[in-house]
Parts: sequence; C-alpha cells; structure tokens
Amino acid sequence: MTIASRAASANDYVRRHSTHPLISRRKAADIARAAVRLAALLGIDPVHVQPDRRWSSLSLPLVPLTLHASDPDDPQQIYNFSYSDPLYDSEPFYLLGPCPACEATVPLAEIRSLADLGVFIADGPAPLPDNGILPSSYPDEFDRNPSHSSTCPFWDSEG
Ligand SMILES: [Zn+2]
Repeated sequence: MTIASRAASANDYVRRHSTHPLISRRKAADIARAAVRLAALLGIDPVHVQPDRRWSSLSLPLVPLTLHASDPDDPQQIYNFSYSDPLYDSEPFYLLGPCPACEATVPLAEIRSLADLGVFIADGPAPLPDNGILPSSYPDEFDRNPSHSSTCPFWDSEG
C-alpha cells in the first residue's frame, strides 16, 4: 500500500467517523484521529481499530478512551489500549491487560512506538514483588488505575 493510499484511507476513516448520533462532531473526530494514530503506530489500516464510542469528555473524573485493535493477519488476536484524552494528540497509548496481582484490566505498558509493544510481547509484564514496590517497567497509570480490586496491594488509592 502506498503512502498516498494509506493517507487517503486515514482521511476517509476520520471523515466517516466524525458523525455519530450521540456525540458531537468534534469529539467524534478527536476519537477517530486517536484511532488513526494507533493504527499508524501498529502499522495496520484504521479499519482494524475500534474505539469505544461511549467515551465522554464530559464525565469527570475523565475516563480514558478504550481502543480495540485486531490483527489483520490473525483477527482473533485483539490488543486493547487506553488513551487518556483524544483532545490531545501527544499522549502515549497504554496496553491494557490483567493485573498480575488482582487480574483487573489495567494499563500494563506505555506504548509510544511499535518497539515498545515488541518489548512487552517479548518480556510480558514483570513479576510483581511481595514488597509492594512496583517494577520500573510498569507505567504510573498502572497503580493509579481504579479498576484494581480494593484489596490489590498495587492499587495506590491516593495516586
Ligand atoms: Zn491489581
């Protein structure tokens, strides 16, 4: 696929997804552009990225946008990401997966490039130690995420 045809596909995706019966045109376009950025990062066509369109920038505290990316060569393989606020275009994506301690779905790795995802796929989440100190490979969003079970030793409820 040429760069021009990939660019046309991305433009088409944003245009098609900028109207939605329930959310404003501007917010829908912001969500679509975040999906296009994730697709570019992963090297896939944006049609393989499905944003959760229930996302609302009006709800406080702000809940991150969730994006589901399916592998075009292996559609059963879905990667789920969060993005804190599609209004901003320079935030990292976070790969979502089960907390090794409580199994809640939380951000496990900060993904700014395809190589970051490669590190996670090669190494997986670092084992969590008994001393409660989080290994540095985990993002700050890991222990701040309120999805952890209330008894999870790695949930920083004050974070
Ligand atoms: Zn947990």
